[in-house]
Amino acid sequence: MYEPYPVPELASEHKKFRYSSLWTFAKQDLRLLAFFLLIASLIGFGIGYFWIFIGIAFAVFFLLQLRSLYLVNDWISNRPYDVPPNLNGIWGALLFNVYRAQRQERIVQAEMVGLIDRAQSSLVALAEAVVLIDEMHQIEWWNPAAQQLLGFQELDRGRNILTILRQPSFIEYFNNLNMAPDGLKMKSSVLEDHYVQVKLTRFGGESRLLVAYDVTRMHNLEQMRKDFVDNISHELRTPLTVLSGYIETFTDQEDLNPRWKRAFDQMQAQTRRMNALVNDLLLLSRLENEKKIAKNQIIEMPSLMNQLYDDAHAYNVDYGHTLNLEIDSHCDLIGSDIELASAFSNLITNAIKYTPKGGTVTIGWHDDGEQGCFTVQDTGIGIDPKHLPRLTERFYRVDSARSRQTGGTGLGLAIVKHVLMQHQAYLEIESKENQGSLFKVIFPKERLYRVS
Ligand code: ADP
Repeated sequence: MYEPYPVPELASEHKKFRYSSLWTFAKQDLRLLAFFLLIASLIGFGIGYFWIFIGIAFAVFFLLQLRSLYLVNDWISNRPYDVPPNLNGIWGALLFNVYRAQRQERIVQAEMVGLIDRAQSSLVALAEAVVLIDEMHQIEWWNPAAQQLLGFQELDRGRNILTILRQPSFIEYFNNLNMAPDGLKMKSSVLEDHYVQVKLTRFGGESRLLVAYDVTRMHNLEQMRKDFVDNISHELRTPLTVLSGYIETFTDQEDLNPRWKRAFDQMQAQTRRMNALVNDLLLLSRLENEKKIAKNQIIEMPSLMNQLYDDAHAYNVDYGHTLNLEIDSHCDLIGSDIELASAFSNLITNAIKYTPKGGTVTIGWHDDGEQGCFTVQDTGIGIDPKHLPRLTERFYRVDSARSRQTGGTGLGLAIVKHVLMQHQAYLEIESKENQGSLFKVIFPKERLYRVS
């Protein structure tokens, strides 16, 4: 593991060294000066020119200091990386300190360069494409995998990333990273029939790190699963229609033996359930395949809400709940009317189904000027919060037996999620066991149409 160089300790060690040694080295100079003065005073005294010899001693000492200064300057200016000249006294101490600091700095530098080299070579070895993009959206660096997966070439250095990866979905994702926290799957522009998952992360302000990897295998498996479900649902449709036709004919016969009648009623209920399942599977698969943005019809919300309210009354006959309708918005919705109506009605039938008889279900439409909110609140059995994150998965049921009993297919909320995704809307669920549930569908401002 890399251990950072102990720079702070080094600095304090330096400080200590400088103060203790400076005096030691200054003493050498003082001793030399004292020696010169002693010799000069002896000679000067002996021959009667005391002050002249004292002056000569100071001059010699001064010349020696000038020589040292010259050598220090010469080393710093011309040969800073060579071993410094061997000097005594205070100049020696100075040279030693400079040389030492310089060496430590070179060690730290070498370690940093080594670390950068190691980080870079590990990025080079990665099978995932890694690309560094600066604040101006220009490509700074990429690894060889990016060359293979995304087709970058040496000439692309410094080019705007959006002029190389030009798919509209990528441009939209690049300009709005929060739109897809898991990244974006897109067709490779280099390898035919290949798909790459691209993930962008912001760092150091506006710079971005792009990581991409090949997800062709996963994509193909997912496509196989979709095709399989699609085909099997289509294949089941005809036999089911034939079966339910015959069963209906038999059930309608008045002289039917009561024992057989019970059996035919059960067969009819089960074929209805299978029909609902097949229809939901086909709808889900259609929604998944049509990843496109939903249509831009203007949906008159007061009329849709009243329609939903009337349908809810029809469904509510066996349950006897109190139904409320609250409209507190002058906004209509922009989207696909059939799909939104089916998503909303899924939420309403769930609220009615999962509320014990005599409860209250309230359907609402509000906006706060920024977002539009369709709500369905019930006083029903509620949901343990641990189930909430998985609730929109297909076939996920909190209580399978109960769901089957109420005729549920386990696909309702999965369909709701897909319809909402096509409208850039999302579902929020607040619920506690035995304390009812609140399902909120939140639409962005762009999906609202203000009625003047
Ligand atoms: P299902 O066809 O089983 O109703 P959904 O996808 O519509 O399938 O719902 C998934 C599960 O979520 C249901 O099985 C049920 O357990 C739970 N659920 C959905 N809506 C409610 C609700 N309003 N109150 C309590 N549980 C609910």
